[in-house]
Amino acid sequence: LIQLYQPLNMLGFAFREIRDGLVNMEKMFDLLQMPEEVADKPGAPPLAAGPGAVTFEHVNFRYEADRQILHDVSLAVPPGHTVAIVGPSGAGKSTISRILYRFYDVAGGRVRIDGQDIRDVTQKSLRAAIGIVPQDTVLFNDTVYYNIAYGRPGTTRDEVEEAARLARIHDFIVSLPKGYETMVGERGLKLSGGEKQRVAIARTILKNPRILLFDEATSALDTRTEQEILASLREVSRGRTTLVIAHRLSTVIDSDEIVVLMAGRVAERGSHAALLARNGVYADMWRRQQEAAAEAARKVEEPPSL
Ligand code: ADP
Ligand code: MG
Repeated sequence: LIQLYQPLNMLGFAFREIRDGLVNMEKMFDLLQMPEEVADKPGAPPLAAGPGAVTFEHVNFRYEADRQILHDVSLAVPPGHTVAIVGPSGAGKSTISRILYRFYDVAGGRVRIDGQDIRDVTQKSLRAAIGIVPQDTVLFNDTVYYNIAYGRPGTTRDEVEEAARLARIHDFIVSLPKGYETMVGERGLKLSGGEKQRVAIARTILKNPRILLFDEATSALDTRTEQEILASLREVSRGRTTLVIAHRLSTVIDSDEIVVLMAGRVAERGSHAALLARNGVYADMWRRQQEAAAEAARKVEEPPSL
């Protein structure tokens, strides 16, 4: 019975997420793999208004009892600042975003937003304060309009168009025969990776959260599209507390601070320049990525002779 109950319990969770309008997180957070639902404390208040300071304080975390994933991770994103988390695949970067969004609770230490432990406030208010642009945005089988407006229920046509303009997707949308009423998603018009990310950005602009979380938001895009989307993300993040998770270091060099995560531990931290001067693991990763980029450029210039 337990075996039957577990998946049903998870499905219940998934349906509540759909009802609460959070379904696009499904893919990113592997909702159906979640062991159990994180619950609000009885009588928990909503997150109080504030400038959006995020702190991770000595955070320990494990998905399963016998394997610790995060070890004593501390980081602080002051209001309006941008902090990047970099590191190899499997280091625990996305785990940090899942904890901030409170899909999981920490095993030790704590996470606070404007001084409030995120376990002490309602999940609804916590999630309303955070805007996520994931690697791969999931679109609903519905109109472009619906897909953007979903960022804020009860929004007006003008607001949707304004958000689309800021995300630089408005002109593309009005060029479609049915404009904002064009059906997109699996059964509608297939948008390119860059167009989908612009829809995600427009959604986030509408949501107007105090904290932004970009998890590999541009890593599935080609270099040119990546540069364009990065420019849009930089505009959205101006004046907002932003946590950027990235694999390609060239995309985070202007962050206020870069935190290097290795096997769930903070290995190094500092500005791009300071980390290069330190000549440690970050400098190493940087050199390797620069060499790989130069190699790729050479291959484009001189195609191998057959
Ligand atoms: P990154 O984003 O840096 O690539 P993740 O935070 O996704 O890394 O994963 C960190 C580690 O946690 C990996 O070893 C991964 O296999 C493990 N992990 C991720 N999700 C789960 C889960 N739902 N259950 C068990 N282990 C997981
Ligand atoms: Mg990840």
